[in-house]
Amino acid sequence: MASVLQHPAEQRVPVSATKLLINNRWTASASGKTFPTIDPATGEVICQVAEADAADVEKAVSAAHAAFERGPWRKMPASERGRLLHRLADLIEDHAEELARLESLDNGKPVSVAKAVDVAATVGCYRYFAGWADKVHGKTIPIDGDFFCYTRHEPVGVVGQIIPWNFPMLMQAWKLAPALATGNTVVMKPAEQTPLTALRIGELIMEAGFPEGVVNLLPGYGPTAGAAIAHHMDVDKVAFTGSTEVGHLIMEAAAKSNLKRVTLELGGKSPNIVFADTDIDRAVEGAHFGLFFNHGQCCCAGSRVFVEEKIYDQFVEKSGARARKRTVGDPFDPNTEQGPQVDEAQFDKVMGYIESGRQEGAKLVCGGDRVGDRGYFIQPTVFADVNDDMKIAREEIFGPVMSIIPFNSVDEVVERANRTTYGLAAAVWTRDIQKAHAIANSVRAGTVWVNCYNILDTRAPFGGFKQSGIGRELGEYGLQQYTEIKTVTVKL
Ligand code: ADP
Repeated sequence: MASVLQHPAEQRVPVSATKLLINNRWTASASGKTFPTIDPATGEVICQVAEADAADVEKAVSAAHAAFERGPWRKMPASERGRLLHRLADLIEDHAEELARLESLDNGKPVSVAKAVDVAATVGCYRYFAGWADKVHGKTIPIDGDFFCYTRHEPVGVVGQIIPWNFPMLMQAWKLAPALATGNTVVMKPAEQTPLTALRIGELIMEAGFPEGVVNLLPGYGPTAGAAIAHHMDVDKVAFTGSTEVGHLIMEAAAKSNLKRVTLELGGKSPNIVFADTDIDRAVEGAHFGLFFNHGQCCCAGSRVFVEEKIYDQFVEKSGARARKRTVGDPFDPNTEQGPQVDEAQFDKVMGYIESGRQEGAKLVCGGDRVGDRGYFIQPTVFADVNDDMKIAREEIFGPVMSIIPFNSVDEVVERANRTTYGLAAAVWTRDIQKAHAIANSVRAGTVWVNCYNILDTRAPFGGFKQSGIGRELGEYGLQQYTEIKTVTVKL
C-alpha cells in the first residue's frame, strides 16, 4: 500500500471555526499569527488556526473573570446551568456525524470509532454533569454551642483547562462539563495537534446560549499559551491532561504564581496481568483492545502485558496472530480499525521505541514498520521476551507497541507491576476470585479492571496514583474538584 488516502481533506468535512473564542466572539489572535493543523493520514495542512499567546490569555482570563464576578452565570439558577448543558449535549448529538468526521480528519482515528466512542461518550458526559448541576450541596453540621453551621459548595472561579490530542472532544467534555455544572468559568487550551472539534463545539456552546465569557477557547502551543494559563494570577485552578513532564511544569507554575488548585491526569505504563487459569482467547482479545485501541494513544494503555509462564508461548502466538489481522488504513474507510498516529513527532517517537526494543534484544513477533509512504501509519507491533529493564517496558510509548512479559507467581507479578513511577490503571485476567482481589487490592493504580479493559464510564472516577496524576475526573469525585467548601456559622 503506497498511500491510504482516498479523499482530499476538503471533501471529508467542512471546517467552520478556526479562530479564538473569547467572550462569545470569534477573534483573530493579538499577534495575528496562525498555525497549521495537519491531516495525519496525509501529512497535509487541513487549515490554518489562530494561534493564541500570552496577550490572548490575558483577554480570555479577563472575560472569564468578569463573567464569574459580574455576569448572569453566577446568579443563574443551578437548574438553568443544567438545562444549558443538556442543550449542548443535544446539539452535539444532532451534529454527531459531522463531529465524528472532523475528529477523524484532525486526529486520524477511524470515523466509526469517533462516532461510537468519542461523540457518544462526549454526549453522555455533558448529560451526566448536566444532571448534577442542581444537586451539588453542602451539609448542616451540629457544632458545639448555640450556633447554626452549614457548608456551601461554591465554584472555584476561573478555571484554566489544558487538554491533549488523543481524545480531543471527549477530553474537552471531561473538563468542561463538571466545571460548568458547578458554576465556574473556563479558559481552555485545546492541543495544537487537534484544535478543530474543540472550536466547532465552541460554536455549539454559543448556539446553546451560554452567557458571554463563560467558555473561552484558545488554540495554541503549550510553552506559550498553555504556560500563560498555568502562570496566570487570576486563574484559580488549572486542570491538565498530558505528559508527566508537563504536569511537573504545571505544578511548578501554580506554586510560583498564586497557588492555584491543580488537578493532573498524566502518563501511564499500565500492567495487564494474565493468569494461566483465564479464558485465553478472551484475554488475548482484551489485551489487544487494551493496548491497540486508539492506536495505542491512551494514557491507560495496557502496555506491559504480564503473562503467566505456563501459557506464555501460546499467548504470544495468539497475540501476534490477532495483531497481524488488525486493519490499518484510511480513517474514513468503515473497515479500518487503526488510522495514523497523530503527527510526525509521535510517529518518530514510536518508531524510535520500536528500534530500541529491537536493539535491546526483545523478540519482534509482528509489525515493526511503517505502513505506506505517506501519513503516520505504523504496523501493530508485538514484542515478546521483554524484560522489565528494557526501555519499552519502562517508558510510555503512546503507540501501537505491545510488550509481553513472562511471570510466575502473584507476589512476584505484583512487585514487578508496581515497579514504575506511574499508577494510572491495571488489569487482571483470571477465573480465580482470590487472585483477582489480590491484584485489585495490591496494585498501586487509580483503576483496576478485572477480566475487562478500557471500561471508562462518566459515572466512575478516573485518575492516577503516583506520577500518573493528582485528583480524579468523572463521577461525583471528579465534580468535587471543581468546588471550594465554605463553612458558614450563624450565632443563634
Ligand atoms: P504530548 O507529549 O502527549 O503532546 P503534552 O503534555 O506535551 O503531551 O501536551 C498536552 C497539552 O499540554 C497540550 O495542550 C500542550 O499544548 C500542552 N502543553 C505542552 N507544554 C506545556 C507547557 N509548558 N505549559 C502548559 N501547557 C503545555
